Amino acid sequence: MPLNVKSRRKRGTRIVFTVLSGLLPVLLGVAILYLQAERTLKQSTELTGEEAIRQFELMLDNTAQAAQELLPLAGQNCNDVKLALREQVTRRPFVRSTNLVWNNNLYCSSLFGDYQEKVNPGDYTHGKLWLMNGNPVTPETALLVYRLSEGSQGALTTLNGYHLSHVLRLIGRKTQLMLRVGPYWLSADGKVHGDALPILPVAQNTLTSARYAFTVTAGFSEGETWRYMRNEYPPLFSLLLFFGVVSSSIGHVLQKRSTSPSREMQRALEAAEFIPYFQPVVHGDNKQWSGAEVLMRWKHPKEGLVRPDLFIPFAEHSGLIVPMTRSLMRQTSALLAPLSASFNGPFHIGINITASHCRDLELVEDCREFLSAFAPGSVDLVLELTERELIEPTPITLQLFEQLHGLGVMIAIDDFGTGHSSLGYLRQFNVDFLKIDQSFVAMIGVDALSRHILDSIIELSAKLDLGIVAEGVETVEQSDYLTAHGVNYLQGYLFGRPMPGADFIRALSDH
Ligand code: C2E
Ligand code: CA
Ligand code: CA
Repeated sequence: MPLNVKSRRKRGTRIVFTVLSGLLPVLLGVAILYLQAERTLKQSTELTGEEAIRQFELMLDNTAQAAQELLPLAGQNCNDVKLALREQVTRRPFVRSTNLVWNNNLYCSSLFGDYQEKVNPGDYTHGKLWLMNGNPVTPETALLVYRLSEGSQGALTTLNGYHLSHVLRLIGRKTQLMLRVGPYWLSADGKVHGDALPILPVAQNTLTSARYAFTVTAGFSEGETWRYMRNEYPPLFSLLLFFGVVSSSIGHVLQKRSTSPSREMQRALEAAEFIPYFQPVVHGDNKQWSGAEVLMRWKHPKEGLVRPDLFIPFAEHSGLIVPMTRSLMRQTSALLAPLSASFNGPFHIGINITASHCRDLELVEDCREFLSAFAPGSVDLVLELTERELIEPTPITLQLFEQLHGLGVMIAIDDFGTGHSSLGYLRQFNVDFLKIDQSFVAMIGVDALSRHILDSIIELSAKLDLGIVAEGVETVEQSDYLTAHGVNYLQGYLFGRPMPGADFIRALSDH
């Protein structure tokens, strides 16, 4: 069927559309999943950061309590209080060492007893915390010093960096975690750094302790979002792929629908694939050519020549029949007008018209244009209207037919005998010809009833003074019968089949 055939010109566009309609939901879905993964990772860094803060505060509480208990001892002789210092170290799980300070002078340590070292309060963030890379005893082990001071009295307690980095590793197993105190920060490998905190590209989040002077930064390294999606979303990816396939199939089907049938006919009209064929009409008495009926053919690039009954209904339905008929009339006048001087009396040219072409006065202009191409009086334009779809007598249609008659255009009722036009109708529209349907002609010599109807039609047309054309004349017997009964014009394979313009012109010159 020609109306389902796709045009090659647009195949590329169609493939692109199909691919896009499949790709679009997949890409959209991936984008949504990406955002979702980012959100999840952000929540994860928030939770991890909060948990780290909680753990560090617990450890610092432990360290601060030791300092609190020791502070009143500051100023006393070191030998008298060093046991108390060591007791705190033993009792408290996170305390590594304890020290007493008098007038910013560390004078007693749990490790060494008597000891002398200057204390610079400026080293401590908010005067309280100092993250160190180590001390003379354990130079490579990080420690966090907690300082408590009141007047000349002071206590320093230290927290083992091992515990801190352990928390960073344990809590942030998948997250990168860093503890920052003032200008220094501790990484999960236990090293203290003095440079700027590195930027974590994915879901970086920094939380500040409300109770101690430190912050925790959590985040992920580059590409974590995709890694997370790869690990967590495989079922969703399968679902997306399924949606993609469904959506591209829908896109494909929709396109197929949109290309047929009216789009395909529009394309054919633009490509001038609708062409006229001509079938001669002869005089009943001398069998000379009196004219021709123009019959439309679709010269389809793949399907070959397509019969009009296969596409005319679609053309009527889509409203394309009007421009198609106009194109047919233009092609006909372009072909035949150059011969008009050689016509022997007015040459009848029959054009098939549908009811939809009669809804406005455009048809008058089409006919005027057609006639103006020919030498004046060289042709009779006959519009053939099938009896099966009669035109409503409205003010517009009556005006149309009046103007058509004014132009000298004639009206023929096609397929006469198959519909139900009344005498009133024939008069109202000033009909000039009746075309007897070929089914009656075919019954000549076969069926008495059909012949009877045929005789009545011939009689009626004589009474109404209408010209009469018999269609589908295939045999000499039919031709003789019709001529004997006074039928003015005959049309049928006996006298000539519908033929292309060039053949028709050649045959016309022979006649
Ligand atoms: P139609 O107007 O009744 O045209 C006569 C049909 O009978 C044509 O068929 C013609 O080829 C065929 N025919 C002619 N002589 C014989 C014969 O001796 N024996 C037999 N069996 N058939 C014969 P075609 O060309 O296939 O057209 C079919 C119908 O399509 C036409 O019937 C007409 O209703 C419609 N049509 C054709 N061209 C146009 C057009 O340009 N516009 C419109 N609206 N309809 C058209
Ligand atoms: Ca016809
Ligand atoms: Ca007919």
